[in-house]
Amino acid sequence: VAPASDPRIRASLQQVIDALGEAETYLTGLDQQVGDGDLGLNLARGAAAIGSELDALAGQHPAELLRSLSAIVRRTVGGTSGALYAAGLLRAAATLQAIDAPGRGDWSRALGEGARAIAQLGDARIGDRTMLDALLPAAAVLEAEPSSSGDGLGRLGRAIEAAQQGVRDSSSTASRRGRSSYLGARVVGVADPGAEAVVVWLQAIRRALG
Ligand code: ADP
Ligand code: MG
Ligand code: MG
Repeated sequence: VAPASDPRIRASLQQVIDALGEAETYLTGLDQQVGDGDLGLNLARGAAAIGSELDALAGQHPAELLRSLSAIVRRTVGGTSGALYAAGLLRAAATLQAIDAPGRGDWSRALGEGARAIAQLGDARIGDRTMLDALLPAAAVLEAEPSSSGDGLGRLGRAIEAAQQGVRDSSSTASRRGRSSYLGARVVGVADPGAEAVVVWLQAIRRALG
């Protein structure tokens, strides 16, 4: 018998797919200013590939699902983001491996471990002007608050605010990683596209859960 899959997982995937499709032009515009202009298209392509397998994916155990997402992302997204997300998803999958029905605390730890895997692979930390400026502060909020605390949605909202604050903070600095690091002070005032993408998919998950 197939495991009864949590409808919140499917809803979250659907919202993320839709949101990344809608954000394509916006994210590409940012990457045109500070990189090579492919981020929106790359993420939208990955989202569409996930969408085409949604039925099968939504029935998988969370660890298996995250491994499948990693494989799809590695195959379809490309670029720096594709490699980093694929690695992060794989690490997140490993943290859920032995857990039958992950709860909020488990998902929070999976996000945190995935973010730290990205930091390791990308050799980057907060303030370098990367996706980590959004991802690490959001994960810190989610991992700090006990999963038993009542209001999960409020917590996710605070995590998104921390991510947005991280994007704003890093927008005012030069980059130390990726293509934007070649541009020096010319990137100041423009949000990092990868960090903005993190805000986009976190907000989509919140919509799905709300
Ligand atoms: P590229 O086209 O340069 O290969 P993408 O367009 O796929 O890269 O992704 C660009 C985003 O990747 C950046 O906006 C940044 O958020 C993120 N990024 C770049 N380098 C790193 C790194 N070393 N560690 C973490 N994130 C990075
Ligand atoms: Mg790019
Ligand atoms: Mg590229």
